[in-house]
Amino acid sequence: MSADVETITLPDGRVMPRAEFAAALARLTAPFPADQVEKLPKQLRSGDQDKGKCARGSNYSADGHYCGGWHARSMHLDYIGHAGITARLGEADPFWTWEPMGLTEAGTPLMNDDGMWIKLTVLGVTRYGYGDPGGKRGPNAVKEVIGDALRNAAMRHGVATYLWSKSEAAERTKSGAEEPAPQQAAPRAQAARPAPAPATPPAQADRNWKRELDATTDPDELVVLWADAVNAGLFVKDDGTPPELAFKARARAIAPDHNTPEEQA
Ligand SMILES: [Zn+2]
Repeated sequence: MSADVETITLPDGRVMPRAEFAAALARLTAPFPADQVEKLPKQLRSGDQDKGKCARGSNYSADGHYCGGWHARSMHLDYIGHAGITARLGEADPFWTWEPMGLTEAGTPLMNDDGMWIKLTVLGVTRYGYGDPGGKRGPNAVKEVIGDALRNAAMRHGVATYLWSKSEAAERTKSGAEEPAPQQAAPRAQAARPAPAPATPPAQADRNWKRELDATTDPDELVVLWADAVNAGLFVKDDGTPPELAFKARARAIAPDHNTPEEQA
């Protein structure tokens, strides 16, 4: 048993015992305690001005959860706040970092459509994310953009991703059932976690994915579904492209104001 079987070299050059790396990944992707899971109302129709108190029995909830807030008819999505996400990244890797994807000539982060693309590096692996201001303006908008981008990119690293996925495995995690943790180190070097192989046959996985796509009302969730499809190779055509048409059609239905000319073709 030589030393390099028991250690792993991260893409950033750090050398880590395999068991420690596996534990860090497990901490990163572990389910959140129930009291850290918040409910975010997402209205079903983007222009809906009919708003009211989301009280028991009211029509402003579309899913039977009554948050007590004031909003148009909405679904309530589970989500983790920015503080919870940030704490989780630190628990998994004290050396995590993020940076904007680009800089302006003045050296400030480059914004796109009021939002920002970022690179989030955790355990030496860099993944992209996008944040938007969620309707906020001024300095608060920038903070919201940063927090949202971190949350979005962290999902790509597996943080709270189970909240967004309706796969059977994710449902088990969500409902608190035990899921095999990656305690055993893999035999080969795997700096990045491999895409989870779909447990269901491909045709069924395609249908499940499409059903999730049709059910989603959240642009963030769309992005995750897109990543899911790419990672799982769903619907992938011979040229390697994922189900772009179905995805764009759904994106238009959810956020018609995000249309771009080429999407209307
Ligand atoms: Zn509500």
